[in-house]
Amino acid sequence: MANLPKRVAELERQVAELNGKRSMAAAKPTVAPGRECPICGSSMKVLSELPHPQFGFGGMKIHEMECPECGHKTFRDFQPGKGYR
Ligand SMILES: [Zn+2]
Repeated sequence: MANLPKRVAELERQVAELNGKRSMAAAKPTVAPGRECPICGSSMKVLSELPHPQFGFGGMKIHEMECPECGHKTFRDFQPGKGYR
């Protein structure tokens, strides 16, 4: 129990962060949810869009993304109308 206040402070910080992200998303509607860099949390750029090899018939795409902040690259499944999976 000794470290409980620390945990509460940590949770409060996370809630404040989430609220901040939410208002940022509202202020910048062009930043799609699901584009956050898993390393640094920045919004990643879509480098290329490919049809999904299994689910391309449903309009599913694969987006190659790169983080402008830390250079992390990843691929994400993208479904039009539903966003990233
Ligand atoms: Zn990053």
